[in-house]
Amino acid sequence: MRYRYKINGIVQGVGFRPSVYKIATNLNLKGFVLNSGDGVIIEIEGKNASKFINELKNNLPPLAKIESIEEEILPLANYKTFEIKESKNSLKTTSISPDKSICDECIKEMFDKNNRRYFYPFINCTNCGPRYTIIENIPYDRKNTSMKKFKMCEECYKEYINPLDRRYHAEPISCYNCGPKLNVLEGENFKEIPFDNEIEKIKFIANKIKEGKIVAVKGLGGFHLMCDATNKEAVLELRKRKRRPSKPFALMFKNLEQIKEYAKLTQKDEELINSYEKPIVLVKKKKELPGIADKIDRYGVFLPYTPLHLLLFEFLDFPLVATSANVSDEPIIRDSNELIEKLGSVVDYILDNNRDIINACDDSVVQAVGEDIITMRCARGYAPFSIKTKNSLNILAVGANQKNTISLSFGDKLILSPHIGDLQTLGSVEYFERTIKTFRRLYDFNEDIIICDKHPYYESTKWAFKQNKKTYQIQHHYAHALSTMFEYDLDGEYLCFIFDGTGYGDDGTIWGGEVFIADRHKYKRIHYIKPFKLIGGEKGVKNPANMAVALITDDLAKNYPNYKIAKTLKNGSFPLTSSMGRIFDIVAFLCGMIEKNEWEGLSGLLIERYYNPNIKETVELNIDKEIDFRPLLNFAAKHRGDFERVSSVFLNSIIKMIENISKIYDLPVIVGGGVFQNKTLLGIINKKLNPYFNKKIPINDGGVSVGQAAWGIWNLK
Ligand code: ZN
Ligand code: ZN
Ligand code: FE
Repeated sequence: MRYRYKINGIVQGVGFRPSVYKIATNLNLKGFVLNSGDGVIIEIEGKNASKFINELKNNLPPLAKIESIEEEILPLANYKTFEIKESKNSLKTTSISPDKSICDECIKEMFDKNNRRYFYPFINCTNCGPRYTIIENIPYDRKNTSMKKFKMCEECYKEYINPLDRRYHAEPISCYNCGPKLNVLEGENFKEIPFDNEIEKIKFIANKIKEGKIVAVKGLGGFHLMCDATNKEAVLELRKRKRRPSKPFALMFKNLEQIKEYAKLTQKDEELINSYEKPIVLVKKKKELPGIADKIDRYGVFLPYTPLHLLLFEFLDFPLVATSANVSDEPIIRDSNELIEKLGSVVDYILDNNRDIINACDDSVVQAVGEDIITMRCARGYAPFSIKTKNSLNILAVGANQKNTISLSFGDKLILSPHIGDLQTLGSVEYFERTIKTFRRLYDFNEDIIICDKHPYYESTKWAFKQNKKTYQIQHHYAHALSTMFEYDLDGEYLCFIFDGTGYGDDGTIWGGEVFIADRHKYKRIHYIKPFKLIGGEKGVKNPANMAVALITDDLAKNYPNYKIAKTLKNGSFPLTSSMGRIFDIVAFLCGMIEKNEWEGLSGLLIERYYNPNIKETVELNIDKEIDFRPLLNFAAKHRGDFERVSSVFLNSIIKMIENISKIYDLPVIVGGGVFQNKTLLGIINKKLNPYFNKKIPINDGGVSVGQAAWGIWNLK
């Protein structure tokens, strides 16, 4: 008998065919395996053919995941061999794999004195190494990647063409003889320092870090700025040079044991830190490292994920600051010329290499909430992120202005780009446009329809309207709700609590504290935070003092119509907002936790830090259409200095309000928007109401493009 299988799931670009080959030849079976547009096709015949599928299931390559197997039994074809056939199908549907951190087998080889890749900083295999960041064009072949300038040596080529080798068709395959080289550049003029071998270069950089210097190291998707995280002077010097006074730095550790010295990890945290994707995980502090994340009680931690990072830690015993090399909120820098131009005054040394990064990609950021995970930045390791759907159009969704991402949808999938950034600088808008071009090229895609945000001044919206294509605008917070519906394929009506920073509302005011009843096609705003004046406009969010004063004075001012402040408030034109994010800022200000909103998210993290689960007190909020938060703000002002009580009562009262509203409507609940990155708030709501919320798709504005595309998929023909 001949068996024919069609297998779907994550089965392409993950070493699936070589595994099939190995199992088939071990069982002495004949036939073939082939990648096709709609899955992997396998035909086998021979005495052991019936054992094949079980063997395969038990010996899957680590990154592969089978979602479905179709079996057909056919008459014998009398194959003579087993072969891996070249795919002839259109490559449009082939997914582009995210980059993968170094695998255990490669680590073993790299530290094996007798291996020809001993200490080789660019070791990789079919299961690990760069992918998205080196692709120029499709199909994913070496000649279409930045590895094209490195001609494979004979030994590498032998591995590359041998189906039984771990490096069968590993496009970035290389070794000391044929691969990329490290390059040490020394500031003032960034001249190259000559060395005898690669390991000397790494050792040199490690020694400089030990001396307290600031270095830039080229990783998978861009450069990191690094220094000794336990050296306060070095950390403060980096802050001074980079003009980044207080926003936390991510930390790269030698290993999990070292993380545990500095942070309290849950089982779930450990799992995430150790996962293949090696994201930055936000965890609870145990030991203070001055200058890293002062004020809050969290660290962003991750493990070395490239061979080069691991080799660096061979010479270091302390954690490193590993922050993306960029200018404030611009995209991560991917080549040394740009690095020297923009951050030459920040770094003392650069550890560069000549494998070009084609597509920049930042580190991903995730957080465990109980047994769940939420994604705050979907990038290296996860993106491009592909989700199955049904769609007859070519849709491009261009996302929000902050934490911008784009989504494409065509055929049977939606693809979410890696995190692009805040579209507030020329550099980031340029990177946004470049990403659109890259995705059009990589997926051989041309949109019929563009979907963007309602905000007329978002750079993404402005770009959309310049394209002269059919363009639709989706309200920002509705897009948040839709992205959750899309992740779980939800249909029907949901009660949606979307608490966010700011987003453009249907009435031209700035929304952000919204309760909707929504489905795939429409939504109704049934409750919202009673609007208040956003003094300083959307750029004024750094100064909660202004908003607080306006909120308090606005009512009183009516009684003192002749005073200047009353006139200013009455006659000045201030946008109105119902933003929950701003309420957090005002509360943090009123109780004295912050003077200024130094970086986004600070007030929320402070409120979490001081939250005490033993305090059960609440302030009753009305749940009319307009929810008045002033009683809670008064409470914060009255108990100024008592951070614990204010933080606890504040979160308790919001939770109570959500519970009370959900009791009125007999509907399943969705929660979303940036405010729900608050682990304490989300954790408690999750236990009480078991709501749907985005886990793999970013719960913040990084998920807006998915919601926009989902609307198109469900509403346009
Ligand atoms: Zn590997
Ligand atoms: Zn080689
Ligand atoms: Fe948002």
